[in-house]
Amino acid sequence: MLHKWEGIVLKARAYGESNKIVTLLTREAGKVAVMARGAKKPTSRLAGITQPFMYGLYLVQRTTGMGTLQQGEHLNAMRTLQTDIRATAYASYIGELVDRLVEEGEPQPFAFEVVRQALLAIDEGYDPEAIALFVDWKMLPFAGVQPILHACASCGAADGEFAFSFAQGGFLCHRCYHHDPYIIRLSPTQLKLIRMFYMMPIEQVGKLDLKPQTKMFIKKIVTTIYEEQTGIRLKSRNFIEQLEKMDGLDGAWHTNNSEN
Ligand SMILES: [Zn+2]
Repeated sequence: MLHKWEGIVLKARAYGESNKIVTLLTREAGKVAVMARGAKKPTSRLAGITQPFMYGLYLVQRTTGMGTLQQGEHLNAMRTLQTDIRATAYASYIGELVDRLVEEGEPQPFAFEVVRQALLAIDEGYDPEAIALFVDWKMLPFAGVQPILHACASCGAADGEFAFSFAQGGFLCHRCYHHDPYIIRLSPTQLKLIRMFYMMPIEQVGKLDLKPQTKMFIKKIVTTIYEEQTGIRLKSRNFIEQLEKMDGLDGAWHTNNSEN
């Protein structure tokens, strides 16, 4: 059976002398791995379309088991993602995260749209760090985490001062601080910011314009959630850390947050 899927290449690995196994995130069929015969050869008509982060229409022959990529055409070649090292690093991170969190075998329209909008925004030159953070928050439910951010996770109160509690999985009001000795207290601005990251529609991803310390704060919280609650630690994060060091942002991932 021949399928035509709108897809994004999450990753591509060599298979044998000249083939690639390509993991696509598609709008219609979710995550699928397909065989791209000959795609390792630069002269192959499949060479370009199977590069990481490529966004296009893919024609796949599949009956049972792994499908075979017949042909593809670009919807967007994502040139910045292929050539700008920072853009590449954050796109790799997004690709790896989503690949780890999304299971094969069923349509995942929300995840597809998150990845599509995020990669297009990075390709257009918007801040890749802020966009990757946005993806981190948006993908939390796929890691089995549904943070409680509309009210206190313990008593349900919507008023008062709030802190973030990893143990309670969300906000804790000042009346409930004693439930968790490791809370991170939040200013009203920080509270709003966390809510915004979690609730903001995907289409607005390109509009994020955040100060470095704001990103650091929001990153510390979401990174801790992933590490403590899911155990996920991504290889591509190491590369980003190296880049950040070169940018003079040394320690952004590890310093204790002191912003108030
Ligand atoms: Zn409470």
